[in-house]
Amino acid sequence: KSSLHPRRQQRDFPKAHTTLPPHVLKKRDELLPIRKSLPIWPHVKSIRAALRENNVLVLTGETGSGKSTQVPQFLLSEPWCTKTIAITQPRRVAAISLARRVAEEMGSLFGNQSPSAKVGYSVRFDNATGPGTRIKFLTEGMLLQEMLRDPEMSQYSAVVVDEVHERSVNVDLILGFLRNLVAGVDKGRKRKTPLKVVVMSATADVQALVQFFGEGLQTSARDVEVETGDSGAARTKSGKPSIDSPESKPDQSTNSKSSNQPTQGHSQVSTCFVEGRQYPVKTVYLPSPTQDWVETSLKIIFQIHYKEPLPGDILVFLTGQDTIEGLEKLINEYAQGMDADVPKLLALPLFAALPQHAQQRIFTPTPPRTRKVILATNIAETSVTVPGVRYVIDCGKSKIKQFRNRLGLESLLVKPISKSAAIQRKGRAGREAAGQCYRLYTEEGFNTMEERTTPEILRCDLSHAILTMKARGADDVLNFPFLDRPPREALEKALLQLLHLSALEETGAISEQGLKMAKLPLTPTLGRVLVEAARPERDCLLDVVDIISALSVENIFLNLVTEERKEEAEAARRELYRREGDHMTLLVTVQRYEEERSDRKAWCEKHFVSHRAMQNVMNVKKQLLQQCSQLKLLTSTDKADSSPSEAKTQAILACILRGFISNTARLMPDGSYKTLMGNQTVSIHPSSVLFGRKTEAIVFSEFVFTGKAWARGVSAVQLDWVSEVIEAIM
Ligand code: ADP
Repeated sequence: KSSLHPRRQQRDFPKAHTTLPPHVLKKRDELLPIRKSLPIWPHVKSIRAALRENNVLVLTGETGSGKSTQVPQFLLSEPWCTKTIAITQPRRVAAISLARRVAEEMGSLFGNQSPSAKVGYSVRFDNATGPGTRIKFLTEGMLLQEMLRDPEMSQYSAVVVDEVHERSVNVDLILGFLRNLVAGVDKGRKRKTPLKVVVMSATADVQALVQFFGEGLQTSARDVEVETGDSGAARTKSGKPSIDSPESKPDQSTNSKSSNQPTQGHSQVSTCFVEGRQYPVKTVYLPSPTQDWVETSLKIIFQIHYKEPLPGDILVFLTGQDTIEGLEKLINEYAQGMDADVPKLLALPLFAALPQHAQQRIFTPTPPRTRKVILATNIAETSVTVPGVRYVIDCGKSKIKQFRNRLGLESLLVKPISKSAAIQRKGRAGREAAGQCYRLYTEEGFNTMEERTTPEILRCDLSHAILTMKARGADDVLNFPFLDRPPREALEKALLQLLHLSALEETGAISEQGLKMAKLPLTPTLGRVLVEAARPERDCLLDVVDIISALSVENIFLNLVTEERKEEAEAARRELYRREGDHMTLLVTVQRYEEERSDRKAWCEKHFVSHRAMQNVMNVKKQLLQQCSQLKLLTSTDKADSSPSEAKTQAILACILRGFISNTARLMPDGSYKTLMGNQTVSIHPSSVLFGRKTEAIVFSEFVFTGKAWARGVSAVQLDWVSEVIEAIM
């Protein structure tokens, strides 16, 4: 009954391939020796043995040692592995590229190319799996969604949780749910066969993880004792976690106290430590601090390029798309002026919002007489291993999500990274040979960095996490097994926010609406907007789906650099702009694009709209509509309309307001805007069609803080409407 394999999709498959194309098999044979040379290969036997004996394995090993690509393949032929293996990734790009790589290594087709394809992936708004999928890479968010739909995880024999050291909120939730599931204390959820869990990371605190799962198992062992009246001390003993850290036993690759006690063994946690291959990396610090990472990186890149021999690619860690694109442009400009006898420079950006095919380019071999320069966000820290790198340039910062309690708003802030992240970044230079790491900060700067990155759960808005917990029946959020317990205040704030969104009843139980919101791959706010739109008195679901789809992809309007081009674009887009603001403008743009039947690409060029982004919007829309229909939201008589009536426009804005009620601001006498629920000054972002306009109240879907608090994605609303909603929910 799994809704994850819609029947429709199976019909779409081409005929099953009975024989594989020769190039697929050739590639597999070529890759085998490379696989066998990975540091993880000598551990294959002990990894298999550990999971035969126990249900939980904590595996650590440096980035690039082969954890993500090899472990699922090692487990596939195990006698207990009769179903699929799930393996989670914090990022889409990693999930997709790993799935492609593993398919190549196994000599299998990929995704939904064929019903016999053994490897697939599932990321938000893109599901490439089929009936034959045995290894499935998923983003953490997608696994959580599956855990809501199929609480026992009945389609899986094993779940591999990768990159645990990144400690995203989602990974913390997954670990909590899995702990309950393997310990059998998950509200009567019992699987027929045990679920095997592998927790993998580059730098994780093994001891904490072993203890975390061990305590869960201990509780369950105690429960069994009570249930069966068994007074044997041995059982209690076997429930104890084995907390041998890999560092303390370097000569023994897997540890488990129960290895010679098979009858009791399943209640223990095994550990395995894979030594990485690390060549020495020389660190170069700046003599004095700088803020100009782009300029400084540029100088160092050319210095390396002129001085150092090939091969030796460069990996630059920057904060985000803007700095990456700025540096890319400069490299390309300067590279044009290089003499013909100097090798070429190939700049390749890598950030989460980059389209998939562009992300894949970093894996293609460096062409002859060329040096690759990969310009990446912290994606390349551990999530994606880029081969060929000998030089790392690290700006020492990254953009992180931070919930600002006082404002009640979540924003992305550029913050110093931790020592542990800086060490990871440096390590990228020494995978294949000795390397160099240029830190764009001083040695003192390094010394003042925090030891570890604070887990996201301690610094972000928890409303999504709590909604997910409630939807999975973990009602007592204050007593949920968190690896790091968020402050009570943050949990309470999130509960209140969910109450405001009517996702929870007064009693704290999840509401029917809340359950629907949890099952949508959207934030609770956007989920609320969607659910509101499905109500008969609003009846504007299709329009709202268009708006949400457009909000879910990177900017659909092309970013233009020169003033001249900007003016040209303004003129061309004017017919799409709506005085109600950005959300209605997005709606009209999506709908005009869809109405265009002959040449959509030309239409996009004419209106300075990104064709690729619009293709993504269409894809997101298709998937959202499918989900709406599964959740029975799509029952209205609604029709999308590119020239919506006044009443329709009001209904749409009312839905946006309902979800984003915390993101509303009123015009002050001095012309500034102040938020109604936090009294914070915000300004309308220059990218908004309402930039420079004065309107009595605004609602905005995004809050960015760059020196100043900006509202992005803004609509003009009446103050009365805002007050009405606030009164109703308070
Ligand atoms: P870990 O999970 O320990 O970081 P991986 O299994 O991701 O290690 O990587 C093992 C090796 O496989 C690395 O050396 C990397 O270069 C290679 N690899 C991984 N993904 C890809 C890919 N998509 N394309 C090419 N090579 C890859």
